[in-house]
Amino acid sequence: MIKELHKKLITKQISAKELAEDYLNRIKDKNPELNAFITITEKQALDRATRIDELIASGTELSLLDGIPASIKDVIMTQGVKTTAGSRILENYIAPYDATLVKKLNESGMVLLGKNNCDEFAMGGSGENSGFGPTKNPHNLEFVPGGSSSGSTASVAADLAVYSIGTDTGGSVRQPASFCGVVGFKPTYGAISRYGLIAMASSLDQAGIIASTVEDVEIVFDTIKDKDKLDSTSLEIKKLRNEKLRDWNSLSGLKIGIPKEYFVSGLDQEVELAVKNIIKKAEKLGAEIKKVSLPNTEYALAVYYIIMPAEVSANLARYDGIRYGESERAKYLGDEVKRRIMLGAYSLSAGYYDAYYKKAQQVRTLIKQDFEKVFNEVDLLITPTTPTPAFKLGEKINDPLQMYLQDVFTVPVNVAGLPAISIPAGSSSDKLPIGVQLIGPWQNEDVLFEVGKLLA
Ligand code: GLN
Repeated sequence: MIKELHKKLITKQISAKELAEDYLNRIKDKNPELNAFITITEKQALDRATRIDELIASGTELSLLDGIPASIKDVIMTQGVKTTAGSRILENYIAPYDATLVKKLNESGMVLLGKNNCDEFAMGGSGENSGFGPTKNPHNLEFVPGGSSSGSTASVAADLAVYSIGTDTGGSVRQPASFCGVVGFKPTYGAISRYGLIAMASSLDQAGIIASTVEDVEIVFDTIKDKDKLDSTSLEIKKLRNEKLRDWNSLSGLKIGIPKEYFVSGLDQEVELAVKNIIKKAEKLGAEIKKVSLPNTEYALAVYYIIMPAEVSANLARYDGIRYGESERAKYLGDEVKRRIMLGAYSLSAGYYDAYYKKAQQVRTLIKQDFEKVFNEVDLLITPTTPTPAFKLGEKINDPLQMYLQDVFTVPVNVAGLPAISIPAGSSSDKLPIGVQLIGPWQNEDVLFEVGKLLA
């Protein structure tokens, strides 16, 4: 899609301004029911588009992203634009600087359409925890779009943005992508600078990309990845072409692992079938399929729900009305955020630290080692992205445990810091999309892109 639009722009079949207007009109039309945007940056979008048209008129060579309309999750700082993190506590907060990834996108000519709705401080898996009302699934308005990058994903699925940047701490890009039938990619921890991301759980947080094709995701990733001196955990990601994948039209020579721990009871039958179909497709394309085991997977959810709230409780201490936000925390923070701050403070407190936080960190190492071992045998893993397709609005909101169980297949990836991508893999009998997850070795995003393009 990006390459086609780029071609239309440079051959003057459409102007950047017309393209931006087209998207802005659709947003005005559809956002009242979808609630995918908290802020629409119309003037900014049109100004940027006009500048791109001037560049085209003057014969300047454009980058692939010049003039392409995009949206950004509201936990990512955009200078001079309201950035709420989906929370009433930051309802009037204007970001004083750009996140590094936003800076890079601006330098590449992004036409920013607006800031996307999301679960408050990215805590949630349905979009319903936003302080600004829930986002709806464009495939069926009675269903959730998934979360926490709910608005980002809904906007791509409804063609209200060509691509969107979300964040993925425990699945928040991949899970909504699978619920909305689009591609959602979380890179290796550190691949995209976290500078300017409103922190949820710093050792797990990573920006991710949502688009309608794997190729588009790759184009955006190539633009925003890289080491950044403002984020000491950021990494230089090299093109790590998998030697075996020299012929990009087949998967011959490639070994794909199917971890048995991801096919447990509770897995929806239609989801299981979708995964099996993708595995068959991979086999037809020449891949060797191997059953593998990641024995510590069963602890990943527990590890995540100890480490994440501990880091949340530390990160959210800054919203005290002095440094940031409104002063009445109790009034302006939602229930889920409060729950996690309390859980985190508890697990870090004297007497409990060793039993919970320290133990969770030890098990985290075991989970990482499981993946390292398995990636000595196979080149990538195929799993379901979520145990079920999208659920109805209101269905799980009063049952946090049911909501947390949605994250069972996505969190191990964050705990281990690995790259993973969710690709569309058909839909359920209710016409709701189903996603399949590909997990790659550390810093090996390229194998995900190449295989993803063939399987999606
Ligand atoms: N659903 C998960 C949670 O609620 C993931 C959140 C995320 O990735 N930001 O924590």
